[in-house]
Amino acid sequence: MVAWKRGLFPRILGHYGPRCVQCGFDNPLALVVDHVKDDGHLHRKQVGNTPYGVYADIVRRGFPPDFQILCANCNTIKLRLTYAMHNQEDK
Ligand SMILES: [Zn+2]
Repeated sequence: MVAWKRGLFPRILGHYGPRCVQCGFDNPLALVVDHVKDDGHLHRKQVGNTPYGVYADIVRRGFPPDFQILCANCNTIKLRLTYAMHNQEDK
């Protein structure tokens, strides 16, 4: 919860919108920053594998358009669909 204390996540919600772009869910405790292009694993490697590293980088770079807000449910659904898609491509 370090990122919360430093106010980064509220600033990110202030820019990208305080609700899930898929379903409109708006409890910030279950909202996450989603990498639109599914390159979160690469981004986390660059900035340190913590939410704080990711959030600090987003703020430092002036809120680039590569991010969006999803709720935990929509994020999980996206991850599973992406995973299923990649697994099919491998076969
Ligand atoms: Zn949602």
